[in-house]
Amino acid sequence: MHSDIFTVSIIIPCFNEEEVISSTFNKLREVLSSVDWEAELIFVNDGSRDNTLNLLKKLRGEDTTVRILSFARNFGHQSAVSAGLKHAKGDAAIIIDADLQDPPELMNRMVEMWRAGQGKIIHGKRTARLRENLFKKITAKLFYRLINILSDVSLPLDTGDFRLIDRQVIDSFNQLPEHNKYIRGLFPWLGYKAVPLEYKRDPRTAGVTKYTMKKMTKLAANGLLSFSKKPLSISISIGMFSIIFAILFASYALLSYFSPKITAIPGWTSTLIVIIFFSGFQILILGILGSYIGMIFDEVKGRPEYVIEEII
Ligand code: UDP
Ligand code: MG
Repeated sequence: MHSDIFTVSIIIPCFNEEEVISSTFNKLREVLSSVDWEAELIFVNDGSRDNTLNLLKKLRGEDTTVRILSFARNFGHQSAVSAGLKHAKGDAAIIIDADLQDPPELMNRMVEMWRAGQGKIIHGKRTARLRENLFKKITAKLFYRLINILSDVSLPLDTGDFRLIDRQVIDSFNQLPEHNKYIRGLFPWLGYKAVPLEYKRDPRTAGVTKYTMKKMTKLAANGLLSFSKKPLSISISIGMFSIIFAILFASYALLSYFSPKITAIPGWTSTLIVIIFFSGFQILILGILGSYIGMIFDEVKGRPEYVIEEII
């Protein structure tokens, strides 16, 4: 299937990773020294505000096959991965985190599976998360299940961006025009044959997570909004239901108004409940619609996804 010598691009997004970047680099080199394929290391500096870029430049002094893409500011993990894939020259690419949470030893296993023709995508599936906080574990578990139920394509559970992808998949991915990318959903959406490789997710070697609550929420919202239109149809069902309810309630009100037996003015409690109830629904529906309009707005603007300050 492949000629003897082939190259795999290894894409490492880094944001404020000064504490881990050197040991990650050494670990990668150690693993790569014992494999029978060529590797191209692409570090994407996602606008780090610490010493990451300087350290990367220094590491490049030791190994000129290393390439560095450096963003002008922090554009986010998904944009960093996209940039790496755009610039990858290999016959395949592996996306791996900078903090050694995804064991680099598995890269060779991924390449073997890919070479044996098992699939065009070999994605790491997390069977356990070691020493990650309970909140992250629970929210991640729930999120991957929720998005899979809501999504129009089936998305593998507990799967992040650690994966190997074939050149053909890279080329298809690079043609996607959307800017708010939920990358771990776009590969299944592309539809090439994907096989999981199970692994235990190690704890971070040093430093703290660069995925703040805000970034995690944004990733989750992007994933849900760009992979499902079900919230819209749910809002339509709720709307229909509230209209039917309103008709019934109005009929009852009219009937009691014309009835000779009427003795009291309808109570303010019921009026209040109805108003609160329906305005609640309206806000909910407006919110859902607004989210989609927000997505459309982002895409229509057609801004580039990132601005690269330098390519080394
Ligand atoms: N990252 C990035 N840009 C960001 C946030 C994170 O490039 O804005 C990188 C980070 O350097 C790491 C990877 O994305 O290589 C995963 O981030 P992290 O390990 O902090 O997330 P967690 O593993 O805690 O989910
Ligand atoms: Mg991590």
